[in-house]
Amino acid sequence: MSQVKYKRVILKVSGEALAGSQGTGINPEVISHLAAEIKSVHDMGVEIGIVCGGGNMWRGETGAKMGMERAQADYMGMLATIMNGLALQDGLENLGVPTRVQTSIEMRQIAEPYIRRKAMRHLEKGRVVIFGGGTGNPYFSTDTTAALRAAEIGADVILMAKNGVDGVYSADPKVDPDATKFSELTQLDLISKNLKVMDRTASSLSMDNDIPLVVFNVNKPGNIKKVIQGENIGTVIKGGK
Ligand code: UDP
Repeated sequence: MSQVKYKRVILKVSGEALAGSQGTGINPEVISHLAAEIKSVHDMGVEIGIVCGGGNMWRGETGAKMGMERAQADYMGMLATIMNGLALQDGLENLGVPTRVQTSIEMRQIAEPYIRRKAMRHLEKGRVVIFGGGTGNPYFSTDTTAALRAAEIGADVILMAKNGVDGVYSADPKVDPDATKFSELTQLDLISKNLKVMDRTASSLSMDNDIPLVVFNVNKPGNIKKVIQGENIGTVIKGGK
């Protein structure tokens, strides 16, 4: 294997990242770009698990605001993450990357159910595993899913693929010209500085299990590879307490 800092990773792809500039839905060009980026690190022998968000299609919160029962709306969000996962699988298979989709809510006709040991076996065999359906529970997020799956499969890092944002800033760089980028933070910093990188459940799970996080801009070609090789792009958030 060529020089890599992380051997087994969880890549968290938010729904927003899949929508590209159109903001909602799935953008085929983004899927092709992402698939090529993922392939480039797969070719280096890196074991890759992917957790897809669903916010490009549906969020439970939105449904709740419309008056729906929160749990019902959240299940719809979980289904959205599976659609994204299938789109990403298609993109990866077009490039000849072997993949499996595992869902936390059973849908045996289209994907395997999530089985931790099986997922790890797939990774060892060089298959990219896409985890769809979030945790399978309402009131959680796919950020929490990423932290959970990372802990379960013993991932070295969570790579937070952002759409156009190259790390964590002190303020929104699009609004505040004085916003500065952090190159390194801890999970505790996120809480004390009220930085909205991931929700608190995901943060505390990452902290308790000492899983680092790298927030980086996935739109720029070559960035996933740079992160894997340990280049200092984006923001590293240390997992430990
Ligand atoms: N969701 C859920 N439980 C989970 C993961 C996700 O209920 O374990 C639902 C929740 O409604 C959420 C939606 O799925 O709003 C989409 O996930 P998320 O908001 O995390 O996606 P992202 O913001 O990454 O696109």
